[in-house]
Amino acid sequence: FNDNLSYPLDPQSIDWTTYYSEIKGACHPTVLDIGCGFGGLTVALSPLLPSSRIMGMEIRAKVCEYVRLRIMSLRNETPGTHHNAAVIRANTMKNLLNFIAPGTLEKIFICFPDPHFKAKNHRRRIVTYDLLTEYAYFLSPGSKLYLITDVEELHKWHVEKSDSHEMFDRIPDDEAIKDPCVKLMIETTEEGKKVERSGSSKYWAVYRRVEATPPV
Ligand code: SAM
Repeated sequence: FNDNLSYPLDPQSIDWTTYYSEIKGACHPTVLDIGCGFGGLTVALSPLLPSSRIMGMEIRAKVCEYVRLRIMSLRNETPGTHHNAAVIRANTMKNLLNFIAPGTLEKIFICFPDPHFKAKNHRRRIVTYDLLTEYAYFLSPGSKLYLITDVEELHKWHVEKSDSHEMFDRIPDDEAIKDPCVKLMIETTEEGKKVERSGSSKYWAVYRRVEATPPV
């Protein structure tokens, strides 16, 4: 896989107005859709969270360009909409630190990530103890991490890793389901729609980033 991506030195050197041109004032991203694929959730979150800045992050160049054009055409079709949605090509497993400043995120979505079934490839999973530590670093206290997959074994992995992480507490499903973002996460991603058509199950979990930062 050609992982020869360019990335900024640090989040401060990014001119976010190139992504969110209509937004006045601070305009760093506040919601990440990690591995956004074709961007169904990224664009669906835009009207639901009008005061958030949503950023899809995708490693595949062509898919990323598709999402960029999709957002541009939504902005053109209905003026005044989707200015808070954007996409960046990035390897989120390596370069989140280059894009996102600590404590600046309200939400992270990880939807239908690649399962990497073989044990020797588990380290390539996008939810691991170390990556959860990074996600906690970017999320503000009390904010949320959303996880969904159609692979039961991977769901168990997500739950096991996140339950055992001191920076995350699971939100009970009956409380989490009241959050309209959960419905969008279940219904609007391209992968989620594919799973729906095949009649397979979807497994999800929502976590809260704990308030306190533990002592070093
Ligand atoms: N979330 C979308 C959905 O539910 O329709 C796409 C799911 S797809 C199975 C997983 C996506 O994650 C792919 O588009 C893949 O290119 C992307 N991806 C995998 N590893 C990544 C990484 N390290 N950084 C960014 N994107 C990644």
